[in-house]
Amino acid sequence: MTENNETNSVPENGQTAGESTPPKKKRRKSLKFQIAANTLIPILLMGVLFLLIGMYSIRKIAVTEMFTNLEGNARYISTHFSNLKGTFYMDGGELFCGDRSTREEYPFLEEMKETYGIEISIFYGNNRVMTTLTDSDGSPLLGTMLADSRIVSGVFKENTVSTEKNNINRQRYLCVYVPLHSNSQVVGMVGCAISMKNFYRANQALFIQIAVLTAITAVVTFILITLLSNQMVRRLTYIRDYMEELVTSKTTEQEMNPSVFRRNDEIAELGEHSIAAGASIKSLIGTDPLTGLYNRRFGRQKIKNLREKAHDEFSVFTIVIGDLDHFKKVNDEYGHDMGDTVLSGVSAILKKHAEMHDGFAVRWGGEEFLLGFETAREETCDILKEISKEIKRTPFYPKNHAPIHLSMTFGVATYNGQGKIDDIINAADANLYKGKNQGRDCIVS
Ligand code: GH3
Ligand code: MG
Ligand code: MG
Repeated sequence: MTENNETNSVPENGQTAGESTPPKKKRRKSLKFQIAANTLIPILLMGVLFLLIGMYSIRKIAVTEMFTNLEGNARYISTHFSNLKGTFYMDGGELFCGDRSTREEYPFLEEMKETYGIEISIFYGNNRVMTTLTDSDGSPLLGTMLADSRIVSGVFKENTVSTEKNNINRQRYLCVYVPLHSNSQVVGMVGCAISMKNFYRANQALFIQIAVLTAITAVVTFILITLLSNQMVRRLTYIRDYMEELVTSKTTEQEMNPSVFRRNDEIAELGEHSIAAGASIKSLIGTDPLTGLYNRRFGRQKIKNLREKAHDEFSVFTIVIGDLDHFKKVNDEYGHDMGDTVLSGVSAILKKHAEMHDGFAVRWGGEEFLLGFETAREETCDILKEISKEIKRTPFYPKNHAPIHLSMTFGVATYNGQGKIDDIINAADANLYKGKNQGRDCIVS
């Protein structure tokens, strides 16, 4: 059998005519990109939502707290005015208490305004008679009435009224109104207010903190998700590469990146299944079912690997073709099954010795075997002598017959940096032929 016949029938890529070709690589969407896109958008939306809810809640809490402060101040001022001796009455647009004008108390209101950043108004009935509020010209907003009658009626029923929706001088204020007593009767109101502008300014740091915290949380979450997905996608890529190499039959020795198994999850499981599937595929397409040796196709791949290694390392390798002597007689005399038993037994011996010397054994044809070694000619011949001895002394037992012994003829060829693979195989074949002609049971190198 010549190597040329073999190359014609089994192409290098391991496919015969009519076999299906591996699926063409389509341009696919990157999983990493998809995960990033599918997480970034929800995270951004969630971030905005959290920010809005957070802002709303914080604002609510801050408003309540501000109302409490305003009420405290208003009550303090109301008590201060109620403690003035005398009865309140209006005279010439001025509020008097007993024989004293309450205008004397204005510095006290100014001081409260300075200390707490609030505006204060004293009402007699619904009439603003004293205030720290000023109009655009800077003159006090005196004489204005409270438009909201519910506030006035509420306060006159001894209630405290807080409101967010109060516009004074076209500015929005948070206001609290408490009753102003004179002789245990409600005669007016004390109003404390803070403009929304000042309120937001006072709470600005808090709002910024919330926004920054939300942004940091979103960014950290996104980074963590990206890192995690990168790790997973990288491992999936290793599995994909492994399967791709297996499918395209570039080599029988592809390895899975060990990091696939570092995680104890479904990806590791997928990796394990891929390895198992790979082993089955390799064994199905790479080994001979009767003998368990490499078949011819993978034998060629192994020789190629040997040649590449020898080329890279400036070393030699040796190819041997062995053929059982008078094997046909075994079939003829004891039946095909006995022939098969002999082939299996001989193959086991060849495999054992080949692997012992870092070589490999291939079922090259019917009862023809190819061996490959990384050794030079003489060392290989020594190994073959051992193999030959073991084959000859191994008995095979046909039913109802005496044990039989077989011998093998070997043709040897060594590669030392020159020639194609086919040339070496042909040289080994020619030496085998010589050996057969010389009377068999010999090693021709
Ligand atoms: P030689 O010493 O010249 O090699 O003689 P031989 O009888 O061994 O050579 P030949 O090529 O004439 O015979 C090889 C035989 O091997 C022919 C074929 O029937 C047999 N054979 C090939 N494959 C198998 C197989 O898988 N099982 C069995 N039982 N026999 C096989
Ligand atoms: Mg033979
Ligand atoms: Mg033969």
